[in-house]
Amino acid sequence: MKIIMLGAPGAGKGTQAKMIAEKYGIPHISTGDIFRANIKNATELGMEAKKYMDEGKLVPDELTVKILLDRVAQDDCKNGYVLDGFPRTIPQAEVLTAALEKMNDAVDFAIDVNVPDENIVNRMSGRRACLTCGATYHIVHIPPKQEGICDKCGSALVLRDDDKPETVLNRLKVYHDQTQPLIDYYTEKGILKTVDGTKDMQEVFEQIVSILS
Ligand code: ADP
Ligand code: ADP
Ligand code: ZN
Repeated sequence: MKIIMLGAPGAGKGTQAKMIAEKYGIPHISTGDIFRANIKNATELGMEAKKYMDEGKLVPDELTVKILLDRVAQDDCKNGYVLDGFPRTIPQAEVLTAALEKMNDAVDFAIDVNVPDENIVNRMSGRRACLTCGATYHIVHIPPKQEGICDKCGSALVLRDDDKPETVLNRLKVYHDQTQPLIDYYTEKGILKTVDGTKDMQEVFEQIVSILS
């Protein structure tokens, strides 16, 4: 099963993608996580990506597509995957469609986690991320057991540089300009499913599971 998560920054794509990955035993692939891991390890790719991420801009398609295609070619992706944060532009979607077509394959579901802009700044300012294992929390809605500490690996949680309100507004604009057109793209392909992302985490997950099964 190949699944794409669509939705504004902070809609809950990552939260749901991790739950899907666990339930269906497929890898969760987040281009944002891959970039952040590279930034943490100070790789050349990380340094390049950081310039764009810190301003709330998209990393150029060329760079992003290469990373994603390398990742989905790995062995653990044979039975499918859930993509979180890719594609984010029409050209990225076209590259993915073409790469899968070559193998007589296609994405099965594009799930749009729908959350209005008004809710997004709150979601982002309360988000706390673990840069070691990729887990995410919300200080009010999904708090860790111990404040500031990752439940899964014990590392310190941080407010991401790009989750500050001024950067979030840029990211929302970028989302509406460059990513939202993917909703029409996947509607035309007949695989778009929309869930109400304003519900609590478990309720959103139930909506998704009923779509997938
Ligand atoms: P969020 O989950 O809040 O939407 P991500 O972790 O997916 O954020 O992405 C963080 C940043 O990484 C984006 O703002 C962008 O700069 C970069 N990025 C991630 N995925 C892509 C992509 N597919 N194309 C271009 N840039 C990306
Ligand atoms: P995205 O990957 O779309 O950027 P995340 O999954 O990181 O979004 O979620 C953004 C923030 O909102 C995080 O702090 C997360 O803990 C919180 N969150 C996720 N889903 C919900 C929900 N259904 N209700 C309230 N908060 C949520
Ligand atoms: Zn962790």
